[in-house]
Amino acid sequence: MDNGIWQAFAAQAETFQATLRERPVLPTLDPAALRRELAQRYDFAEPVPAAQLLEQVGGLLAEGLVQVTHPRYFGLFNPSVLPVTVLGEALAALYNPQMAVWSHAPAACELEHRALTALQALIGWAPDEAIANFTSGGMESNASALQCALAWRFPGWDERGLTALGLRPTVYLSADAHHSFVKAARAAGLGTAAVREVPVDAGRKLDPAALEGMLAEDRAAGRHPFLLVATLGATGTGVIDAIGPLREVADRHGLWLHADAAWGGGALLSPALRPHLAGIDRADSVTWDAHKWMSVPMATGMFFCRHPDAVRRAFAISAAYMPPHQGEDAVDLFGASPQWSRRSIGLKVFMALAELGLDGYARLIEGQARLGEHLRRRLVQEGWTLANETPLPVVCFHRQGTDSSATLARILRDGRVWLSSLALPGGPTVLRACITSYHSTEQDVEALLAALG
Ligand SMILES: *Cc1c(COP(=O)(O)O)cnc(C)c1O
Repeated sequence: MDNGIWQAFAAQAETFQATLRERPVLPTLDPAALRRELAQRYDFAEPVPAAQLLEQVGGLLAEGLVQVTHPRYFGLFNPSVLPVTVLGEALAALYNPQMAVWSHAPAACELEHRALTALQALIGWAPDEAIANFTSGGMESNASALQCALAWRFPGWDERGLTALGLRPTVYLSADAHHSFVKAARAAGLGTAAVREVPVDAGRKLDPAALEGMLAEDRAAGRHPFLLVATLGATGTGVIDAIGPLREVADRHGLWLHADAAWGGGALLSPALRPHLAGIDRADSVTWDAHKWMSVPMATGMFFCRHPDAVRRAFAISAAYMPPHQGEDAVDLFGASPQWSRRSIGLKVFMALAELGLDGYARLIEGQARLGEHLRRRLVQEGWTLANETPLPVVCFHRQGTDSSATLARILRDGRVWLSSLALPGGPTVLRACITSYHSTEQDVEALLAALG
């Protein structure tokens, strides 16, 4: 590999970011031909020099993706990435810290710990009040919550398993909650039927009265309720469940309360938006993805838990081939999460926090929230009907007599903006636009309105 390779990478990164606004959001290369072309070009018999690969593969990525970092990507919580976070990713790859045990990577572990401590304070928990960890994303964080809740609610579960204990553990969440809990329930051996969807009220928040009814019914039917999920920023609608009433139900019924703030957690960074998540500190655990609203690349989730004992019972393990534990009150991460070998997921979050400062992050989040308000106002002016109610920058909308799916298909064929649709259960199919890029401006919103026609 020649020396010019790093400069070439830097040049590609700069060019891509500088020219992105002029490019289409949707892929321009022919996806049908792609696999055939790759098979021809890369037979892995002829070596390809790194410099050439950098150019070829970069070219494919520039033309063969939905560009989620584009300012006119009004999409699914996939953010534009801060340059400093790309540097964080590069450093993590370059030094390749092994995070499984603290003694192998004290610097990388402590940098992550520093970032997590600052973010945990925004939830409202002191450093010694909880245990926090970076994860691969909301899926892993939610699965961790489910596993910790099992350990907490059913002593003996970790040793003997559910079958020996004769249990039918059951999870409760809103009909608009994220389906990662279904996968988590399957992986834990509970099955899809263990996940019970509670009806939502007129504002699409989990209805506590309906929940009470289901709990009574399910207990009588021999189920064992153990986990209640409050969704703080639903994936489709951005609606925030009222956590206070859910805490009361959880206390009455001995349930673990998990706050799924995968995207909405970003609002904690803004003093103006934080009150919308008031009560999050009363949860037993929290999911918050840095890769959703913190302008950090995938795959960067976070899991915060107020019950270190439950985390230990869920994940702690001893293995003779692992280095002995070192570090005063440090945690060996392979015993505190489902992962074993673990990359330095959180280095990029540390870099972003350090570069922007908490005030800078607040401005980034608030800028996007303001643009969301602007989008709402402009849609109403143009005769669209809003279909969701949230202070967060995701807008669901439709227009009487217009087929949302046909409008979407036309826009995606054109390729200049990206948005999605959502079939609201019991409601119409609506269009859904989310401000996910800190580069998006009012002009980009106008481009979206123009595309909507
Ligand atoms: C995105 C999302 C998840 C899943 O997170 P991933 O990072 O995609 O694994 C979970 N819950 C909510 C509310 C989400 O929006």
